[in-house]
Amino acid sequence: MAKILIVEDEAKIARFVELELKYEGYEVEIANDGRTGLDLALHSGADLVLLDIMLPGLSGIEVCRRIRTESEIPIIMLTAKDDVTDKVAGLDMGADDYMTKPFAIEELLARIRVALNRHAKKGGTAAGHKKDELVFGSLSLNVASHSAYYGEEELALTKKEYELLEYLLKNKNIAVTREQLLNNVWGYEYFGDTNVVDVYIRYLRQKIDDRFSVRIISTVRGVGYIIKDER
Ligand code: CA
Repeated sequence: MAKILIVEDEAKIARFVELELKYEGYEVEIANDGRTGLDLALHSGADLVLLDIMLPGLSGIEVCRRIRTESEIPIIMLTAKDDVTDKVAGLDMGADDYMTKPFAIEELLARIRVALNRHAKKGGTAAGHKKDELVFGSLSLNVASHSAYYGEEELALTKKEYELLEYLLKNKNIAVTREQLLNNVWGYEYFGDTNVVDVYIRYLRQKIDDRFSVRIISTVRGVGYIIKDER
């Protein structure tokens, strides 16, 4: 089920919406200010943002603008009654929809469904790739949510497996050494030997190459690994 991020400083409203969404089966996360909201919108793996406009820290309009520089996540603005300028500003900044407070929860739920469906369709392969997406054939990585897909199927990768795959994909067509992978994926503080890289490459191959009968990650003898375009 989709995960909804509520960015709302009024605890009562946030709580009310949270309960209703959970009742409908959604996963819910709450941020009480603009900065936290922005951070969670980009990094928590949320599928949709309910974004209040009057927020401490960053305003909802500004949060919306900043989200849009990096992500296509659906955004529904929550505006105070009759504030037409806010509505227009929100939509100008790339919000998908808005709701005027106080709202009927049924209407909010309907608009959430519409926004999620529209986004799912738009995310189809033909529509062009989003900024935060890395694509290699049928393999696609959503950098914002740290999720990986092969075709329509989400891959169950651990955090390290994902990061390893992302690094290889960002360096597509370049052979990267085990040391490089260790430094960039595990970090300089990691003192283990480079065998750990081979172990994780094997995990990735099991989850992608073996599973879908493809060859994504190649070994470069004496060097390391590469994800290479077919010629
Ligand atoms: Ca508010």
